[in-house]
Amino acid sequence: MSDFNPHNTNEGKDKDLDGIIRPQELEDFTGQSEIVSNLKVFIKAAKMRGEPLDHTLFHGPPGLGKTTLAHIIANEMGVNMKITSGPVLDRPGDLAGLLTSLESGDVLFIDEIHRLSPEVEEYLYSAMEDYVIDIMIDKGPGARSVRISLNPFTLVGATTRSGLLTAPLRARFGINAGLEYYDTPQLVKIVKRSADILNIGIDDDAASEVALRSRGTPRIANGLLRRVRDFAQVVGDGHINLEIARYALDKLNIDTRGLDAIDNKILRTIIQTFKGGPVGANTIATAIGEDQGTFEEVYEPFLIKEGFIVRTQRGRIATELSYKHLGLIKEPEEGTLWGSGIPSDS
Ligand code: ADP
Repeated sequence: MSDFNPHNTNEGKDKDLDGIIRPQELEDFTGQSEIVSNLKVFIKAAKMRGEPLDHTLFHGPPGLGKTTLAHIIANEMGVNMKITSGPVLDRPGDLAGLLTSLESGDVLFIDEIHRLSPEVEEYLYSAMEDYVIDIMIDKGPGARSVRISLNPFTLVGATTRSGLLTAPLRARFGINAGLEYYDTPQLVKIVKRSADILNIGIDDDAASEVALRSRGTPRIANGLLRRVRDFAQVVGDGHINLEIARYALDKLNIDTRGLDAIDNKILRTIIQTFKGGPVGANTIATAIGEDQGTFEEVYEPFLIKEGFIVRTQRGRIATELSYKHLGLIKEPEEGTLWGSGIPSDS
């Protein structure tokens, strides 16, 4: 199987490259302009007061820059960052060890924070609020709780599934930012910047082609750039022009609109199994073997943004664009005009 895996972040050598092309400062971070401009203010104000930045939650689909922003915060605050993730922190002792190792102002980054166990989450509350943790020592009749003070720190949490966060945890983040998909000009900028850093020659139209097929996602854009470069080196002279880019992207089975296999499965399911909709999110999710939250928070937003589906009170409907994209013909419905009379529940 030689298909490009757009969500793979762990390709060894590519992971090293990731560190090189990851923007280090807010100035280098393309897009998400509202989040960036607010963060600039919050970081500056915290530094003026000599305090750590408020606890910050980033949510949004994978690959949009949540981890990158956490690195940037630590960098701009001039502090160290410790990295962990919800599923890894399975015992309160692990969390206590991490928290007590933080120096004043440090950032603790917890990826997939929606996957923390309830027990660990409970410990986090007092740590976030009062910079203390209460640890139980001994068991049985001798058991007692000891309070440990922590250095003030910033918790940066990232999640693709903000809907799964408990209300008490969510309430403890002073800054809460949702990342959006990137538009093509922003992705072109990211592709060119990465190409520059990696010393890859790429024409403007070729960079646009890579950007267009990246599902609005910088991680995918960077991944495609690296794979296209392989083709340029082996098939051409190393320089990426439009022809090489198209050739490579076709060889990698990248959809012309950047949709991945699951996106296409969703559209095909709505059209072929449910006659184009309206069909409920839960029904679509079951039909494609995903859970409803993942469908709603990870896949659907991009399909709606790009105009492939619309959300109505009665469910999701595939638009004409979806039919065209899949090369299918929409059967005319008697008495209805396309797009008319559909109430939106956005
Ligand atoms: P997430 O944590 O949201 O899954 P990451 O922060 O790991 O995403 O970003 C994935 C990759 O995309 C990183 O290699 C990073 O360099 C790149 N990236 C993300 N956002 C941007 C951006 N705004 N500008 C430039 N590169 C970006």
